Amino acid sequence: MTGTEPVDEAARTEGGGPAHRTADGFRRLYGSPPEGVWAAPGRVNLIGEHTDYNDGFALPFALPQRTEVAAARRADGTVRLHSADIPSGVVTVHPAELDPARPPAGAAGWAAYPAGVLWALLEAGLPVGGADLHVRSDVPAGAGLSSSAALEVATALALTELYGIALTRPELAALARRAENAYVGVPCGVMDQTASACATEGHALHLDTRTLEQRHIPFDCAAAGLRLLVVDTRVKHDLADGAYAERLASCHGAAAELGLTALRDLPYAELDAALARLDDPVRVRRVRHVVTENERVVRVEELLRAGRLRETGPLLTEGHASLRDDYEVSCPELDLAVATANAAGAHGARMTGGGFGGSALALIDTDAEEAVTAAIAKAFDAAGFTAPRVTAAAPAAGAQRVL
Ligand code: ADP
Ligand code: MG
Repeated sequence: MTGTEPVDEAARTEGGGPAHRTADGFRRLYGSPPEGVWAAPGRVNLIGEHTDYNDGFALPFALPQRTEVAAARRADGTVRLHSADIPSGVVTVHPAELDPARPPAGAAGWAAYPAGVLWALLEAGLPVGGADLHVRSDVPAGAGLSSSAALEVATALALTELYGIALTRPELAALARRAENAYVGVPCGVMDQTASACATEGHALHLDTRTLEQRHIPFDCAAAGLRLLVVDTRVKHDLADGAYAERLASCHGAAAELGLTALRDLPYAELDAALARLDDPVRVRRVRHVVTENERVVRVEELLRAGRLRETGPLLTEGHASLRDDYEVSCPELDLAVATANAAGAHGARMTGGGFGGSALALIDTDAEEAVTAAIAKAFDAAGFTAPRVTAAAPAAGAQRVL
């Protein structure tokens, strides 16, 4: 890390849009065209929240919003990083000086994500060399839609493909997660990076976070006359804060108390008997959320496989109540988004992501989009909350080269 330098405003572009704009931004910035542009999507978790550190199941899908990385190799071994979305200028990184104890900070703090990917690749003994990178994204950052995983996975794909390194998608996801855990310092599970790296269009991704086994479940909302609304409450979450660590410790403590490797090993049918053995009412609630949530993933997968997409709605709403009341990770804005969507005709809705802000998800009939969106905007206004950003989503493709 040797610091930052200012960059021409012309290198900044508006969010969204095709890969050639990212390539143009690269050319304006570095003076020559990139060798390619790689993209990785944000994600929404349909169901299976706070299960990934309990060896449980999750069912995310990839968003159409994605992070693009235009990149070209450099012969001198240095790596230069730039984001059109953050006014920090170009951040120059010297691979030999990368140190997880001293990640980029301040205005260049975002660069910890791609620098962490470089660090993780090198630490794994992979022969990545120097590169110039230019990032642009239409995944909103800090909205619970995994802009961090999108940035990591797009960077990992760009660097490995530039240097002809063949990794499987799960390997790529594991390296991206390692960057976030060990270099950026966020103790996230592997779901976000796996969704971004491995999801396929028109499918939700069933992930067993113990075995890392994946199943691609057809999830064609449009064909069923359905749409998914993503409601970004614009309340910023902070997964690095103590609440996440407290939930994790509570779950691991409860598993130990019950003599289990992880809460995933507690069958749904044995939940009540197990809860009766726990004294701490907080642990009772945490365990009840994790075990019922795993069961909801199983049921939602069954319904999707049977083509009964609408019937997943009540399970989404049940999942929200569990996160709100038992896991206690919701917030007034998320609760209002869910209640309003349901009152306006959604089949079901839930907060998605770690909680304490971020986004909610609502499953609606295609023709209800306007009514549900308007109802949410009105309710937020009446409550004095910041206007939410509501977008429609359909399960999109995972990471890929786009130019
Ligand atoms: P989430 O993953 O839910 O969006 P995080 O807090 O985990 O929220 O990650 C957001 C951070 O990731 C941002 O604050 C920024 O540091 C980094 N980031 C994400 N997208 C970009 C981008 N396009 N350009 C630069 N940094 C980004
Ligand atoms: Mg994140």
